[in-house]
Amino acid sequence: MSLNAETACRVFDVQRFSIHDGPGIRTTVFLAGCPLRCAFCQNPESFRPDAADLMTPRAIIAEVLKDRDYYAVSGGGLTVSGGDPLLHVAPVRALLEEARRNDLHTCVQTSGAVPEANLAAVLGLVDLFQLDLKHMDARRHRALTGASNERVLRAAAFLAERGAAVQFRMPLLPGVNDDDENLGALARFLAGLSVHALELVPYHRLYLDKYASLGLEPRLRDLQPPSAADRERVVDRLRRHGVAARIEPL
Ligand code: SF4
Repeated sequence: MSLNAETACRVFDVQRFSIHDGPGIRTTVFLAGCPLRCAFCQNPESFRPDAADLMTPRAIIAEVLKDRDYYAVSGGGLTVSGGDPLLHVAPVRALLEEARRNDLHTCVQTSGAVPEANLAAVLGLVDLFQLDLKHMDARRHRALTGASNERVLRAAAFLAERGAAVQFRMPLLPGVNDDDENLGALARFLAGLSVHALELVPYHRLYLDKYASLGLEPRLRDLQPPSAADRERVVDRLRRHGVAARIEPL
């Protein structure tokens, strides 16, 4: 089948049997391109759109449908990740439409650092958004990701106000964003959206080899994953602020 340049997806990975990218057993499709450059990014391949494979939405969904039986028994489906899949909206919209035609549950992971028009364009095609709140302080967010958090916070409010199902997440980076001030600000922001749950994604170091193979220098080379005590303290702090935090296993 010929590629439509407008809706072809730049795919740098497809992971079957994912169990940490939304409910149930899922296939996660990673699309290249991201507006941010996070110091802890686990997917630096996404910074190189030219190195990804161009695929039609139909070819991607044909791959995803191979595990349809697993989705049916587990409540799973398709997760679109990146990079930020909402950076280029025409391809992801075409992909989600193809998923809809095949009755797949759809989850989209976004940085939120995209125009509201891009969020609006996929709103009716996404069963669950996962949106990361990396730091509540604009200056520290910029130091960590290369951009202010202004657009991310607006995206969070935009989705919440429209009744979209959103799972808010925070990468847990010891000594970077796990201080009381940030956790308190995060809890107040979520309360303003009538949200009282948060997913914590503990930092890990497995991605460092990728940087070496791509010739990139990891900025958080010396950062260690959160200890059990770190994780307990953060969950407890958030609970005191009225937020039920669930922590992903390391
Ligand atoms: S938003 Fe995600 S994919 Fe983009 S740079 Fe940050 S961690 Fe990497």
